[in-house]
Amino acid sequence: MKNVKYGKCVKCGKEYPATPDLTTCECGGILDIVYDYAYIKTQLTKEKLAAREDCSMWRYRELLPIEETTENTPLRVGNSPLYEEPRLASELGVKQLWVKDDGQNPTASLKDRASAMAVAKAREAGAKVIACSSTGNAASSLAGNAAAAGLKTYIFVPSRAPKGKVAQLMTFGATVISVEGSYEDTFELSKAAIEKWGWYNRNAAINPYLSEGKKTVSLEIMEQLNWQVPDYLAISVGDGCTIAGVWKGLKDLYAIGFIDKLPRLISAQAEGCCPLNRAISEKKDWYPMEENTLADSIAVGVPRNADKALMAIRESNGIVVNVSDEEIMAAQKLLGRTCGVFGEPAGVTGTAGVKKLCEQGILGKNDTVVSVVTGNGLKDVANAIKACGEPITIPSDMDRLLKAFADKGITVE
Ligand SMILES: *Cc1c(COP(=O)(O)O)cnc(C)c1O
Ligand SMILES: [Zn+2]
Repeated sequence: MKNVKYGKCVKCGKEYPATPDLTTCECGGILDIVYDYAYIKTQLTKEKLAAREDCSMWRYRELLPIEETTENTPLRVGNSPLYEEPRLASELGVKQLWVKDDGQNPTASLKDRASAMAVAKAREAGAKVIACSSTGNAASSLAGNAAAAGLKTYIFVPSRAPKGKVAQLMTFGATVISVEGSYEDTFELSKAAIEKWGWYNRNAAINPYLSEGKKTVSLEIMEQLNWQVPDYLAISVGDGCTIAGVWKGLKDLYAIGFIDKLPRLISAQAEGCCPLNRAISEKKDWYPMEENTLADSIAVGVPRNADKALMAIRESNGIVVNVSDEEIMAAQKLLGRTCGVFGEPAGVTGTAGVKKLCEQGILGKNDTVVSVVTGNGLKDVANAIKACGEPITIPSDMDRLLKAFADKGITVE
């Protein structure tokens, strides 16, 4: 890889050759992939990118840690829509708002970006089996992307994982282990199994290439905005890999001169599980927290990528915001009603955070904001119904329809 220099520990600074099976530093620190931006500048221009036909995340190859000869993974990952939402912007009271619907990835979450990267790197490593533990989306995206590439998967999920995600896993032919315990318990079992059998490791934060895949969401957003940088970029946070990846992508673009400033990140967590935002607010290090929220994908009490995430939030002069489950459900309804975008609870948490910051007067009429919807609502139908209600249920009878409308105060237009 001519574009990559090495992997560098974010804790002790030790450098490692960027082999495909790279994991963490011997000190336990997480590695960051370091690029040769001077070389990349000679290889990639805005014009060259604009002329490229490949719309998937692999269109940004020059900025990704893969060999030039590594093939694109089979599923179309990336190229999710960025909608400008003037009605929602005015309802919230900001100048401009865009919604990036990353639930439109092949397995319906942003995690496809990391899992496609895992599959590409596993292929480079010559691995035939990949494993991970996950709250659900990393699992289903890995199972799907691996199935398409002909690789076998072993997946560990906490037993609380919503049915939609488990259904995806079973459909994609993964060997699924549903662990009776928390995400933390699940992670520990997967770690022991990976050590025992030597599978390719797609665990969040252990594999330093994953957040490089995730960063393609911000590369894409900036290209879709024609390199005009918004004031804020809002994202929901669990392990912290996504927000760290988003920040890495922005810094890459800044380093190669594609953008001339950086947005401030908005880190949205659930009130019932916000160890990273708490660390920022308390200006301290993080410590574990209960996993107490319906937003299962960000119910992460022991965040795996705390160092990189906290660094990203601090470096960007970011804002942290915690939202209640009620506020998450309200955001689910709001995005559905005003934008036609259906997000899972964790998927809409960024937008819930934006709404709350508007209500608190922290964001206002001069601000431009991108909010990323990270996962699709069909993954967790039970919570969507809980948030948005049940339909009118009656027999096929006009009188009953009239009565139901009258009872509900519905005036027909
Ligand atoms: C994983 C996930 C997140 C958070 O990403 P982290 O890297 O864990 O911080 C947010 N939303 C959805 C839908 C996810 O699946
Ligand atoms: Zn180290």
